Amino acid sequence: MVKRKLCEPLENRKGSLYFDGFSVEELAQKYDTPLYVLSEKRIRENYNRLYDALAGKYKDVRIYYACKANTNLTVLKILQLEGAYLDAVSPGEVFMGLSSGFAPERILFTGTSVRSDELKFLVDAGVTINIDSQSELDRLFKIAVPSTISIRVNPEIGDGHHDHCITAGPQVKFGLCEEDVLKAYAVAKKARVERFGIHMHIGSGILNINSYIQAVEKLLGIAKRVHDELDITFDFIDIGGGFGVSYHPDDDDLNLSEFVSKIVSLFKAKVKEYKLGKPFLCVEPGRYIICDASILLTTVNTVKLTPYRKFIGVDAGFNTLARPAMYGSYHHILAANKLNSKSNETFDVVGPLCESGDVLAKDRKLPLIVEGDVLAVLNAGAYGFSMSSQYNSRPRAAEVMICQGKPVLVREREQFQDLLLSQRVALQGE
Ligand SMILES: *Cc1c(COP(=O)(O)O)cnc(C)c1O
Repeated sequence: MVKRKLCEPLENRKGSLYFDGFSVEELAQKYDTPLYVLSEKRIRENYNRLYDALAGKYKDVRIYYACKANTNLTVLKILQLEGAYLDAVSPGEVFMGLSSGFAPERILFTGTSVRSDELKFLVDAGVTINIDSQSELDRLFKIAVPSTISIRVNPEIGDGHHDHCITAGPQVKFGLCEEDVLKAYAVAKKARVERFGIHMHIGSGILNINSYIQAVEKLLGIAKRVHDELDITFDFIDIGGGFGVSYHPDDDDLNLSEFVSKIVSLFKAKVKEYKLGKPFLCVEPGRYIICDASILLTTVNTVKLTPYRKFIGVDAGFNTLARPAMYGSYHHILAANKLNSKSNETFDVVGPLCESGDVLAKDRKLPLIVEGDVLAVLNAGAYGFSMSSQYNSRPRAAEVMICQGKPVLVREREQFQDLLLSQRVALQGE
């Protein structure tokens, strides 16, 4: 079924799938499905692998966890305890970060289309603001002049696994282009901002080192101009997140050491050549930290053979995992109790929603599946639960984390009552 051997935290024990040491069938039985299962161990490993790779080449690094990938409070707590910083894209994410114990100085807010009352909230919270437009900067300065400001640059080079996830380039709404960047720093300097950062984030799911390298080069060139023309020194240079993860068993993983080594060498060389001082090198991974640290378990309700297709109907749809429907993303699927069986059948794995687009996997080779089987959807940790919804009035899934060696329910399954929350019925009567 999988050509590549299962890798940690997945394990094949006599044909049964284990995740971080626990039988996924037993987890499904105990906590019911759909169920996200997370691994504390894997989150820490992913963070530390990246930190060690970067810090081995450049001492002053900071990893900002881009929490829109997964805002589970225990995930945030683990990363806070590891010493991570936090990348927040909304005031709600800032709130989640502060609630998890991140000091405001460790939170960088990178919003777009930001409201003035949100800017006020951010100023009061004391987080660092990364500016996405001149309008945002002007409105911020009417509220307060923070001691630190960063500007999001559009380096006009983008990349990503899907058009929706490319966040730099000529057609994209994010950041400021070169000349506007210079104007914005000039305004900030005049307003007596004391400390500066510079930022880019070119996209998500990047496995192509070259585009990233080119964008870093462009960013540093712009940083040089800001430094030379405005006499601004940067406390930090943030090159964004987007480090890709392979979803398909035939795809290669990101070559982390090559990636880091090329980027850090370029960074060090240019910082030296351009006399940019000793800035922190910041990165903002979301997916890389959390993607393979979680799987989604779902139970087979129906096996339906039509004259045309074989459907496996499961209890997780795009309400639970949006990526396949939203981006056409591939998620590998394993039958939890049939790892040693041959995958001779071709199925469409479909959810319970009343939409034909509710497909988790199309034309997927799987072993013979029967009703009641538990399927594991791999690499579900990033943009899985965080994009889930109550569409079709289906309560959201539960989350269990293998934490300190045992399963812990870290998010209760929503109940019907949760569907009524915050609604008020306008009409009274019998
Ligand atoms: C989404 C996002 C990230 C993280 O992207 P990943 O692909 O999950 O690494 C980083 N920075 C910003 C500003 C983002 O919006």
